[in-house]
Amino acid sequence: MPEQLVVIQRLLTWDTYIKIPFVCVRCGKCCREIGVRPLSSDVHRIAECLGIGERSFIDQYLGKIVSVDVYSDDDDTLYEKQWRPCPLLFFNTCSIYSDRPRWCRYFPREMSTDGEFGIGCPGIKQMRQVISAVGRGIPCIPVTDIPNGKKLDQRRWPRIWRKFMMANPTKEMIEAFAKVNDISREQDNESWELDNE
Ligand code: SF4
Ligand code: SF4
Repeated sequence: MPEQLVVIQRLLTWDTYIKIPFVCVRCGKCCREIGVRPLSSDVHRIAECLGIGERSFIDQYLGKIVSVDVYSDDDDTLYEKQWRPCPLLFFNTCSIYSDRPRWCRYFPREMSTDGEFGIGCPGIKQMRQVISAVGRGIPCIPVTDIPNGKKLDQRRWPRIWRKFMMANPTKEMIEAFAKVNDISREQDNESWELDNE
């Protein structure tokens, strides 16, 4: 069953769940390997950010027009050059981050291999590890997909937290997981573990 259907099915049967955050480790793999193609609606913004004219930007970074999507509200035009690796990535950092193409803003699309275009995004990998560690018996929902729901009974968290730590999460993932699931500072893993020894 496709993952989205699983998520919907779970939503219909449970009203509590563990939220799983996506934490980018800033490895730059997606920017190097996927081959982003900016669209016409990105041109003005990025050219301005780079301090060059639109024509120069198109010539230098995009090339000829390949197709025009007449059904798009934004009248999007596709250009021939794919950014693989992206010429605007410097030392694993996007040099135009606040003005980056629309495409980049929505990566990764979802947790499936398709959603990450098969590049092996470490952020997705960590998400999957956490889900397989904590997600038996209680549904896990990517935090970007689902709005607020009922909170889990606080008494269940010590056990969930211990399983979560078995996924060997990074410090950033620990902070994000605690934040999105509203786990307070006093209820950190050490005091829970002591309570349950
Ligand atoms: S591949 Fe994944 S973890 Fe790496 S920079 Fe891209 S989104 Fe972040
Ligand atoms: S524009 Fe920025 S975010 Fe998009 S691929 Fe290039 S470096 Fe990555």
